Amino acid sequence: MNYLSDIKEILYSPRDIDERIQGLAKQIQTDYNGEDVVIISILKGSFIFTSDLIRYINLRLAIDFIHVSSYREGMTSKELIINKGLSSNINNKHVLLIDDIIDTGNTLKQVKEILTKENPLSIKTCVLYNKPSGRKVEMVADYVAYDVGNYFIVGYGLDYNEKYRNLPFVGILREEAITKI
Ligand code: 5GP
Ligand code: MG
Repeated sequence: MNYLSDIKEILYSPRDIDERIQGLAKQIQTDYNGEDVVIISILKGSFIFTSDLIRYINLRLAIDFIHVSSYREGMTSKELIINKGLSSNINNKHVLLIDDIIDTGNTLKQVKEILTKENPLSIKTCVLYNKPSGRKVEMVADYVAYDVGNYFIVGYGLDYNEKYRNLPFVGILREEAITKI
């Protein structure tokens, strides 16, 4: 099956994304002003974004990963399950938490709360995409590459049923490619 034929529209080309990420990296580098930072990337969606972003940041960075899943309980509340926790100590460190997209806000808010308990010196959040129309809890990311409308996007790390993460661009799926689970 050809991946490209499943895409209805390309919204962000590799070149668009690369340029935007360079700008975001510059902003992060300026804000941290030479401080050491621990980057924490939320798996799996942010692995490509994180790896591209950090190569444009000229600071002493350490990298760690956390893998979480969320399960909808009833209609509203979501319980977060940690599949893989941190492998480093963030006590007294500046932490920059990175996710692919903030939609309801549940994931980023809960992961931030969990990490805050480990007493970092500071904790900020960074996302590639912000979907303001999806918000269900109060949560604002400190760094946002793009605001996106109310549609489901795939590519550049973002999946649909674990597929399409390896697309080099971000786009919208054709209706025919969307299957019921
Ligand atoms: P939240 O907890 O903010 O509702 O959701 C964040 C997670 O939902 C993201 O990390 C991502 O896995 C998933 N998500 C939300 N919107 C989209 C989307 O448009 N496309 C994809 N591929 N995943 C999304
Ligand atoms: Mg996902």
